[in-house]
Amino acid sequence: MTGSCPCQSGLPYEACCGPYHRGARAPSPEALMRARYSAYALNETAFLKASWHTDTCPPDPRPDGDIRWCNLTIVAHEHGPAEGAVRFRATYQDSAGFAVLDEDSRFVLEAGQWLYLHGTTDVSRLRPGRNDACPCGSGRKFKKCCPS
Ligand SMILES: [Zn+2]
Ligand SMILES: [Zn+2]
Repeated sequence: MTGSCPCQSGLPYEACCGPYHRGARAPSPEALMRARYSAYALNETAFLKASWHTDTCPPDPRPDGDIRWCNLTIVAHEHGPAEGAVRFRATYQDSAGFAVLDEDSRFVLEAGQWLYLHGTTDVSRLRPGRNDACPCGSGRKFKKCCPS
């Protein structure tokens, strides 16, 4: 794809998550987390599997086709020499409306490669008012943007 990266870094995709999707090594858990978010948004299933620790990876990881990912905010991130944590908040839209996913993700470094181990998640449904800012992040009012 061209244009700005789905992870909302403000960088072009090719200067951000694109290279990781094609096999470059992410330098930190935060970079890997961003690339995994972008992979969900872009249906990069091979990368989802490649970036997931083999102990915890489902047999066939793939994004829920019903979900449109709208926003990513990295809330906190830290890492030591071989393990790391990233807390993020992601907004998405599905057939039931908008929701926010809060996740505390854990990562480990194996053979020089950061891998996603597991996450603790919490989903809250959003109930935007018609005149509220649309949760998709467009800056427009909800009623003029994406009401479901
Ligand atoms: Zn990115
Ligand atoms: Zn919208």
